[in-house]
Amino acid sequence: MSAKKANLSGELKKYFGFSTFKGQQEQIIENLLNGKDIFVLMPTGGGKSLCYQLPALISEGTAIVVSPLIALMKNQVDAVNGLSSDSGVAHVLNSSLNKTQTKQVFDDIKNGKTKLLYVAPESLIKEDYLDFLKEVKISFFAIDEAHCISEWGHDFRPEYRNLKSIIDKIADVPVIALTATATPKVQDDIQKTLGMTNALVFKESFNRPNLYYEVRPKVNVDKEIVKFINQNKGKSGIVYCLSRRKVEEFAQLLQVNGINALPYHAGLDQKVRVANQDKFLMEEVDVIVATIAFGMGIDKPDVRFVIHYDFPKSLESYYQETGRAGRDGGEGYCLAFYDPKDIEKLEKFLAQKPVSEREIGLQLLNEVVGYAETSMSRRQYILYYFGENFDPVNGDGAKMCDNSSNPPKLKDATNDLKRVLQL
Ligand code: ADP
Ligand code: MG
Repeated sequence: MSAKKANLSGELKKYFGFSTFKGQQEQIIENLLNGKDIFVLMPTGGGKSLCYQLPALISEGTAIVVSPLIALMKNQVDAVNGLSSDSGVAHVLNSSLNKTQTKQVFDDIKNGKTKLLYVAPESLIKEDYLDFLKEVKISFFAIDEAHCISEWGHDFRPEYRNLKSIIDKIADVPVIALTATATPKVQDDIQKTLGMTNALVFKESFNRPNLYYEVRPKVNVDKEIVKFINQNKGKSGIVYCLSRRKVEEFAQLLQVNGINALPYHAGLDQKVRVANQDKFLMEEVDVIVATIAFGMGIDKPDVRFVIHYDFPKSLESYYQETGRAGRDGGEGYCLAFYDPKDIEKLEKFLAQKPVSEREIGLQLLNEVVGYAETSMSRRQYILYYFGENFDPVNGDGAKMCDNSSNPPKLKDATNDLKRVLQL
């Protein structure tokens, strides 16, 4: 055991140049190498990729990594290939490859060169890929962003639901599933759908002690935000709005007020979108006004504030979106504007959806309204939602929210209690 430990540290240093493992990485990797199914719940930035990259690099055969976004896969493949002098250690397999390229990928796998094969779930079902993968040595499966399996998650993808049967067709090898979404419902859903109810679960705390949480009533919101940004001049921040139209309007309003801001949403021309994002990353612009299309895979360490002009649709999305603040451990201010009328609009919108989607949507809204209206520690509320206990007096970051640093009057608390008693 200890010899193996020393070994893993050596491999970590050799491939990644790091001297120590982060969090539970080492135990996760050891167990995976010992053939266990593993479920990893770790916040964004926790170092999940290494939990499958390192074991893949030192195992015989090829690990299949299922990941939802082509852009994310490409980044990872480039990163892994940069770790070693051989090319072809990692590949993406998808239908954008031509015949020659696909043959190259297949050859590299057959020759034992390729240690990591990244695929989107919709590619995995292709007959010719399946037939090929059945015949070669697979070390294990890694299901990244595993919350995509669950309708309770913030990024449900129907293609993820059939993964289990596809995996079973390809090989009988260990599976490691990883996600930064830790609500008990999503966790349960993932484990059931992937047939991993016996998996070893590694869960790290989702507490972000350096983030400050505040909810304000949505009154004079334009003015309030302009004032806030002016008080934080020169700092990087994100303002989230629900609609594309609002994003454009509000970015303009900020510009008119002398704030260096740009819009970002999926309806903008691809070139403009990329350019605006790059300007934000390169600090040519302070504030990005965006729909939730902005953020996946963005790693800017010094985002100092995340403002929600409109309230988020779930507490899960709120956690992910605010999680982009203070990644470097420094200040991160999370301010959300709440108007019950906005929630009514969202409810009306949900009314047009199929029943199951509507029910889930309403439940998620209910929870987010609870967050908006609570007078308890917001951190405690969020962590409770993730199935974690938090001590609102002595816990790490206990004072870091409006309710804790500036306790609401007794009257508010009484209202809260009344509501609970009515249930
Ligand atoms: P996640 O997928 O959990 O969001 P990533 O896998 O993208 O996180 O890793 C986040 C960052 O942490 C990356 O920059 C990665 O290089 C770094 N990292 C991972 N493991 C270690 C380690 N053991 N020591 C130092 N840095 C690490
Ligand atoms: Mg990741």
